Amino acid sequence: MTTGEIRTSFEKYVGNDKYNHFILTLYEAFPLRNRLFFWQEQLLKEFTNEYDLELIELRQAHKIFNHCPVHNYELKNDNVPIVDGNSISSNFSNEKEKEFFPMANVNAPRNLERFSYPKNVDVIYCDKCREFLKQ
Ligand SMILES: [Zn+2]
Repeated sequence: MTTGEIRTSFEKYVGNDKYNHFILTLYEAFPLRNRLFFWQEQLLKEFTNEYDLELIELRQAHKIFNHCPVHNYELKNDNVPIVDGNSISSNFSNEKEKEFFPMANVNAPRNLERFSYPKNVDVIYCDKCREFLKQ
C-alpha cells in the first residue's frame, strides 16, 4: 500500500472524526512529541492487524499521516514565534478553528512543558489552513 492508500484505509477504518483527532493529536505539541499516546498505538495496532500491514511506529506515522485532515494538503515545516495565549486575538471560535483550519499554526501558544522558552519553535502546518485564516 502507498502512504496515500494507508491514510484512506485508516480513515475508513476508524471513521472521519477519530481520524481527524488522531492526526491533530499527532501534531498538536510543539516541538512534536517523541512518542505516541497509548490509544494511538492501540488504534494503529488494530488497524494494521485488520489490514495485514506491518506495525506503524511513530517515525512512520509522521511520514504516512503528513496531510491536513481537513484539506488533504501535504503538511510543511515552519518556525514560528511563541506567544502568550492571552495575546492571541482571534475572530474565530475554537470550534470553527478545529473545523476549518486546525493546522494553520501561525504561532504557537505558550503552554509548552518546559522551563525556559525559546522565542520560536518548529511547527507543522497546512498552507490551505493558513489561506483560510487570512480571508
Ligand atoms: Zn488544512
